[in-house]
Order: sequence, then C-alpha cells, then structure tokens
Amino acid sequence: MRYAEVSVNSPIAQRRTFSYAIPAELGIDVGQAVWVPFGNKLLQGIVLELSPYPAVEETREIAAVIEPRPLLSPAHVLLARWISEYYLSPLFDAVALMLPPGFERKALTFVSATSIPGDFDPSALTPEQSRALELVRRRGKVSLRHVEKTLGRKKAQAIVSQLVKRGLATRSYELESVKAGPRVEPFLSLAVEASEARQEAARLRERGRAIKQVRLLEYLAQQTEPVPWAEVRQNVNRDKAVADALVRKGLVTWRQVKVRREPISYQDITPSPPLTLTSAQRSALEAIKSALAEGKAQTFLLHGVTGSGKTEVYLQALAEVIGRGKRGIVLVPEIALTPQTIERFASRFPYRVAVLHSKLSLGEQFDEWQRIRDGEFDVVIGARSAIFAPQPELGLIVIDEEQEWTYKQDDKSPRYHTRDVAIRLAGMTGAVVILGSATPDVETFYHAQRGDYHLLQLPERVTPRDGSAMPQVEVVDLREELKAGNRSLFSRALSQSVAQAVANREQVILFLNRRGGATFIQCRSCGFVLGCKRCDVPLTYHPAEDMLVCHRCNHRTPAPQACPRCLRRGIKFLGIGTQKLEQEAGYSFPQAGLLRWDSDATRGKHSHDEILSRFRRHQADILIGTQMVAKGLDLPLVTLVGVVSADIALNLPDFRAGERTFQLLSQVAGRAGRGTLGGRVIIQTYAPEHYAIQAASRHDYASFYNQEIDYRRQLRNPPFSRLACLVYSHTNDAWCQRQAERVKRQLAQEIDSQGLDIELIGPAPAFIHRLRGRFRWQLILRGWGLSEFLSGITLPQGWTVDIDPLGLV
Ligand code: ADP
Ligand code: ZN
Repeated sequence: MRYAEVSVNSPIAQRRTFSYAIPAELGIDVGQAVWVPFGNKLLQGIVLELSPYPAVEETREIAAVIEPRPLLSPAHVLLARWISEYYLSPLFDAVALMLPPGFERKALTFVSATSIPGDFDPSALTPEQSRALELVRRRGKVSLRHVEKTLGRKKAQAIVSQLVKRGLATRSYELESVKAGPRVEPFLSLAVEASEARQEAARLRERGRAIKQVRLLEYLAQQTEPVPWAEVRQNVNRDKAVADALVRKGLVTWRQVKVRREPISYQDITPSPPLTLTSAQRSALEAIKSALAEGKAQTFLLHGVTGSGKTEVYLQALAEVIGRGKRGIVLVPEIALTPQTIERFASRFPYRVAVLHSKLSLGEQFDEWQRIRDGEFDVVIGARSAIFAPQPELGLIVIDEEQEWTYKQDDKSPRYHTRDVAIRLAGMTGAVVILGSATPDVETFYHAQRGDYHLLQLPERVTPRDGSAMPQVEVVDLREELKAGNRSLFSRALSQSVAQAVANREQVILFLNRRGGATFIQCRSCGFVLGCKRCDVPLTYHPAEDMLVCHRCNHRTPAPQACPRCLRRGIKFLGIGTQKLEQEAGYSFPQAGLLRWDSDATRGKHSHDEILSRFRRHQADILIGTQMVAKGLDLPLVTLVGVVSADIALNLPDFRAGERTFQLLSQVAGRAGRGTLGGRVIIQTYAPEHYAIQAASRHDYASFYNQEIDYRRQLRNPPFSRLACLVYSHTNDAWCQRQAERVKRQLAQEIDSQGLDIELIGPAPAFIHRLRGRFRWQLILRGWGLSEFLSGITLPQGWTVDIDPLGLV
C-alpha cells in the first residue's frame, strides 16, 4: 500500500494535509487532483506528497482521480506550502491559486452498469432495487441525480449503495461543467430597407425633429451588416434611449450576437523588431543575460525613470530566455494591463503571448490556462495572479512597477505579496527575476543597496530629442494663495498654465486622488457629518448621479434635504473629489473640452480604453482623474500636469504615507513631457516643505530614499523589522475590544515565555473602525519570525492575520 498526503478543499482542513491510502488500481502523482472522502462528503483534493507510510493509523482510500495529468508542478507544490506557512493561510487557499480557473466545482456522481455476475438471482432484489438496476442497465450510465428523480432523493443513495455492494453497478465521479456560457453582445441593425430608413430620416430632418435619431438612422442605413452597440457608441451616438426610440418606431432592432473574443487580436499588430539599445540599457541587459546563462535564481532591480526604456530591456531579456528554450511571465499592475501594453509584447513575439485578464470570461480564462500549460506561449502577461500561471520551463519573471500596492492581495486569504512569491518561485525553479520601477519600494531598494538584489540603473529618458530632461516641477504653497484671497481650486500659477496650454492646442492632466464630488457632507447648524450607516466613513456626494456614496461598501443613498440629526436645512457640501473638480474646471476653463477618468466613469468593460483613446485623439483638452491617470500612459500632447492636492495621501496615519505620496507624485509628474513638446508639472499643497513633496519635485529618488530609510530605521519599521496585523471584527464594539485585549495578553505571555523580541502594539480601533456593520480592532506585531511565532498559536474564530501588511490603516 502507498499513501498520499492530500490538501483537501474544506474549511476545516486549515493548514494541514490528510493521509489517504492509494488503491492499487489508481496511478497517483504529486500535483494531481483527486476525489477524497471527508466526513460524509466527497471533496476535491490535491496530492502534495507520496509516502510509503501514512501520517495517521487509520486512513481512508482516495475515491477517484479527477484528471490524470497533474495540475500543480513540483515547484508549485512547494510554493503552495510556503504560502500557507508564511502567510498563515489555509493550505487549500494557497493550492487554489494555482488551479485552473473554475476548478472549484462540485462532484457529480454517476452510476454505471456492470456485466451481470453468473450467480445473480433477480428475485433477491427488492422491487425498488430492480427498478433502479433496470434504469442503469438501459442507459449504461446515469447520473445519481437522475436516479434520485425516479426513486426519491433519500432512497436513491441507499439503493445505489446496495447495487454497488452486490457488484451490479459501479460509481464514478465527474466535475459539474463550467458555468461559463458563450459571450453575447448587443448589435443594432435596421428593421426596414435602407431606402425606407433614409426616407424616414429625411422626413424627420425636414421637420427639424429628433436630430439624434436622424443621425443614427443615416449611419445604420450606410452599414451592410449589424453593428456592435460599442461601435455605434463610439461613432455616432452614446445614448441608448435614442436607439430604443427607433426600435419602438419599428425602424431598428436589437440583436444579441455571440462573439468569441480572442484575448489578443493580432490583426492590427505589426511585428516590431528589437531596438538598438542605449549604453545604459545595454549594460543592464548584459548583466541579466549572464545571470540567465548561469541559470541560477537571481533578482535584479531595474531602476529607471519613466521613459528610460525599461520595457525594451524586458523585451530583449525575454528574447534571450526564449532563445535558451525557456519561457517568461510578465506581471503588470491590473490598471496597466491595457491593449497598449499587451500590444508591445504581442508585436515583439507574435502569436506567442498569452494574456491572463480578470475581464476574460471564466471559459476564456480556462482555455488560456490549458494552452499555457501545454507550452503554447513563450510569454504570459497578466496582473497579480498571473504569477501562478502554469508556465512550463520558467526562466524569467518580470514585475513591472514593482512598488505598486496592487501586487499585495489584502482582501482575502492568502494575503500574499506577488514580489515575495515571485522571488520564492524563482528560487525553486532557478529563474531570474527583474523588478522594474521608477520609484522602487523602499524595502526593495534597501535590499538592492545591501546586495541582496543586483541594482541596475537607467538614469535618463530615451527620447527622440537629445537627452531631454525630466519635466520641470513647480510646488505651489496653497497657504499663500489663501492669503492672496484666491479661494478657488486652482492656484494662479496653475490656472494661467492651463489656459496657456489649452490655447496652444496642447493637452493637460489634472490629478486628484479622490473621486466623487464633495468628500464630506456636513450640517452647518449642528456640525453633524453624514456617514455610511454600516461603515465608519463619511459619505461622498456624486453630482453626476446625484447620490451619496460610501467609498468602502459602495452603498448609495439620495442626498437628504435636511440634517438627519437636527432636522434643519443646513446641509453643506465640503471637500473636493474628481466630479467636483470637473465642474470647477468647466467654470474656470470654459473653452476647454473636459474628460473625466476614474472608477465611476469606467464601470463598463471597454471604457478605460474608450476614455484613453478619446483623449489620445485629442477629443478633449483636459483629462481629470484619480491615480488611474498616473499609470504608464504615454501621451505626447500632454505638456502640463496639475496635481490639485498633494496632501490627501500624506495625511493618512500610516508609516508608508510619505512613500505613497512620493510615488504618486513622481508617477503623475512622469506623465508630462512624453513628447517633443516638453512639459511641466504644478503641485499644489499645504505642506510644501515635506521631504516627499520636495524630493518628488526634484525627481530625486535618492534624497527621498535616504530620508525615508532613516525614519524607518529610527522607528524600527520595515525593512528593519516585519509587521503582522491582526484584526478582530464583531458587531459589538465592547466585545470586540475585550476580545482583542484578551488575545494581546495571550500573545504577550507567549512572547515572554519564549523570550522573543516581538513588540505588541495596540489593540486599537482600526483606522476604519466600522466596516459593513462590523466593528474592527487591530493588534500589530513588530519584530522577526512572526509567521513562525503565530503558527504556534490558535486564534479564536473571527480573527484575520495579515503578514507584511501594506499599511496600518
Ligand atoms: P519605460 O518602460 O522605462 O517607461 P519604455 O521602454 O516605454 O520606457 O521607453 C520609452 C520610449 O522610448 C518608448 O517609446 C520606446 O519605444 C522608446 N525606446 C526605448 N528604448 C529605445 C532605444 N534603445 N532606442 C530608441 N527608442 C527607444
Ligand atoms: Zn459603507
């Protein structure tokens, strides 16, 4: 008998595996998916280890193999174990990261007929058993559900068991099918002849009526085939009501058309050959190439300002790795996973690039996963979770914009950081890792300085002109503006520059790190601030929808006429968000075309690209947006970037607030002057002397880093320690606090008795004290070996543990 250690898909399983005996007839491999009995259920599991001995005395047998081919490679098995141990997550949660999309499904039981044994006596069967046997034999194989329909749910299970025991039937298990139907999109077409449509359009036009309908009719009359609504929206008419009006008149019809979307359309992509590298790029590439030649795991930090040609280095490093018969994974922040980015990779490696995109349907993701595992792609590109793609012969992992916070999964278990996972995975596969950034994470840079990573630098932009400098940055002190009596959102410097740029037919980006209109709504009579009833955050007014919105739970309510507390009519809208900024910009720059880009404006599927391509085609002069506008855009006509307020990120009670501010400002500033026209940046702030703002205004990473690392050292914050954030949540605040204090005492005792150097901070109410109706208290651990320490402690239900949290808010 051989045995398997199986990670079982059950919440009870937690961080351990379970021993199962392997029946002689099953060939079982590490990484394989199997059905195992667990309690009185049959559950999915993944085999993580084979051994000649079971870990416990009594074992049950593996019931069946789900798929003969292993789903996890040996390296992925190790990685899953590491993730579970380090991030203290249930083992199956870690395993699930590496399974094909849609894998977690229920088992369907099937019953098949066997050949009737010679000594079979039909009269020994009850009438119900005979009926069931007849049913199975007639069809050869039926689902248990089908038997249940005939015999009733309770009886069917027992009767099938009796048949199986007598050797008259066998059971088998299959996954229920993926619930991912084909994708359909709405199309518009004429319901009448084109000539009739033209006549009708002419009639309406003569009467000077419904001009939008006229235009839409004329447009459709020119088409030979039904047109996707998305295309209609782009070309003639954005208003669905106009189309519906024509439908009611019987002139036009909607159709739902099935479309199969290839993640990449190569139609419009022309292959792009490698560029001749600058000398800085060349020496960076040489260092990477020799690491690839050695075939040992190594990590590089490629530190280069925006536009310094990092992507070209990634591309040529990938070509090198492919030349060596290996493959690569490229990670970009979700928001940067645009057609523009994909195209750069796809045009260098035509038909050899896979995209893993959360916007693909489950079925599409599943197909892509299978094809990757079959080795069809040299390069896999995707956001965070693409690090777990089943890319065989992994030789290179690129993480672009490695400082991005979205690389940490912090909303569900496992709370992993992609960078740390990638470095682990590389260690297990001998791959090379390139971390790329203009403003590296302070911890990453610290490791590069210490020599844990190799530091490669691209200090200058590659531009068509001779070594053009970074854009000039001006910091405007808003206190001075107030003194001078200017109460508008725009300082004198900013409003003059915007007007000038628009007059020159150049483009402007206005950045504000907060969406919505008024960011808090207060009663002038009693001072009451309207907050979300379930979360402890002020509501934000969104003028476009005329609604109050909670930015935590997205709860929406109409704005009240009177104060809910004092019932007087004194509600005032204070603070600013992007929607308010849009209004104000409309008053201040009436000649300019405005476009807003934030998550409210981009609920739909293509609207990111739509907004961006409208701006690129210069259909608007000013782009107003949240941090989305800061990421990776290359817009040559933008000569001015205005940061309307630099202070929002700065005022968060978190040790990374300075870093966050520096990164945001640097990224936003990097948007200006990408073309030949040059560019400038204006930063408005109430804290012009802050080191993060000062350093960002001089594009001076080194001075920011030196100051920041000093603070980190003094306060013993990462990288001079590690943190763990423990949060307890409960509907009763006082209970929550007591519970947190109890756990603190328990931890303190344990730390003491083990003689560890771990600090306990708190418990304190979390920054968002109340979330979705539950109160939250947090406890911070600071020191080393936190996972190891915490793994020996059983926390009561209701606690979440976040190892290496992003922030403490
Ligand atoms: P980054 O990734 O650092 O922001 P990119 O790789 O996007 O920089 O390069 C910025 C621009 O310079 C791009 O338009 C790119 O095509 C161009 N570029 C990069 N390397 C070279 C080179 N060696 N010669 C000419 N142009 C280059
Ligand atoms: Zn809320």
